[in-house]
Amino acid sequence: MASLVPCPHCGQRPKEEFTIKGAALTRPTAGADASDWFDYVYLRDNPRGAYAEYWHHTSGCRRWIILTRDTVTHEVVASHDAGDRSRSEARK
Ligand SMILES: [Zn+2]
Repeated sequence: MASLVPCPHCGQRPKEEFTIKGAALTRPTAGADASDWFDYVYLRDNPRGAYAEYWHHTSGCRRWIILTRDTVTHEVVASHDAGDRSRSEARK
C-alpha cells in the first residue's frame, strides 16, 4: 500500500491518518428484498484490479472519502469525497 493517500481536501497525507471502513458498495433501496440485503451485508467480491473503499480521514479533515485502488499494485486510481457520491445518488 502506498504510504501516502490523496485526500481531496488535504492533499497527500500519510496512510496512518486514515481509518478504512471497507468496500464502497451501493446500498439497496429500502424496499429491496432480503436476498439483496444479504448480499450487501455479507457477500463481498475479492476482485483483482481497481476496487473502491470508504476511508475516513480520522487525523485530518475527518471527511469520508472513496478511494479507488488497485488490489494488485496498491496504486491509488482515484480519490473523491464520499458526500459527492451520496449527493449524486440522491438526484437519481
Ligand atoms: Zn482530509
